[in-house]
Amino acid sequence: MYALRLSNTTSRIFQRLFTTTTTTTTPPTLLRVSEIFASVQGEGPFLGRPSVFLRLALCNLQCAYCDTKYTWLFEEEKQQQVLARVREKQRDKLDLKVYQKSAEVRNLSVVDVAKTVLDLSQGHIRSIVLTGGEPLIQRAALYSLLESLLKKGYHIEVETNGTIRPSGFPIEGIHFNVSPKLSNSFQPFEKRIHRQVLQEFLNRDAIFKFVITQEKDITEVNNLVELVQIPRERVYLMPEGTDIETLHSRGRWLATECIRHGFRYSHRLHIDLWGNRRGI
Ligand code: SF4
Repeated sequence: MYALRLSNTTSRIFQRLFTTTTTTTTPPTLLRVSEIFASVQGEGPFLGRPSVFLRLALCNLQCAYCDTKYTWLFEEEKQQQVLARVREKQRDKLDLKVYQKSAEVRNLSVVDVAKTVLDLSQGHIRSIVLTGGEPLIQRAALYSLLESLLKKGYHIEVETNGTIRPSGFPIEGIHFNVSPKLSNSFQPFEKRIHRQVLQEFLNRDAIFKFVITQEKDITEVNNLVELVQIPRERVYLMPEGTDIETLHSRGRWLATECIRHGFRYSHRLHIDLWGNRRGI
């Protein structure tokens, strides 16, 4: 995936587009990357839009249901920490495989990442989704990449867990899908909810997206909406589920709850289309 070669023409276009960035701003830094691929956005307000996905490695949380543990679960110690927080009868359902960091994470320069994004865009995709892991952990290294992509007219979506401030990111052209974690993630409240950070996102182009497994999760969302004063039309509820049957049955129930509470429903289109696979 990372060995994508650019044609001579594409290389020349790339050199012109990135000359400014490489000569007048901070020198390119390394990004710790899990995967880069083109697909359609499967969640949130831009569902269905063709986009290049840049999945960054590492996360500051350890959610039990996380379906991208290959971005951060590299030590048995972390595996044991997650297990210790999960109630015994729910442990069987968890996938807690420990991944090999050297096989999962590549240190790529901003220039190489930009080249790959350009190539995967095939001349017509103008949307990039930064996801993870938690992409804002690497925000310092992301600045020059985002600056370059914005100049070329890309619309940028950032998927974040809402625990790290977005300060330093440009206001225009960047949309945040903030996904605060509920108690179903088995993370302590103080670790997963940072009220002031969430309020900062309220002043940005941002929506708030929650993964829902059961009714009590919606009560938690309602409490958080009150606490942070999030307008309901900016709240999306999304069914937890990595197989089509769970997604559909939970989704039908959740859509009805969204109508009842005035929230928006978000599907997980990529699961529906392709199942729980990587790189789609
Ligand atoms: S914040 Fe997201 S990437 Fe990090 S552990 Fe939780 S679900 Fe996984």
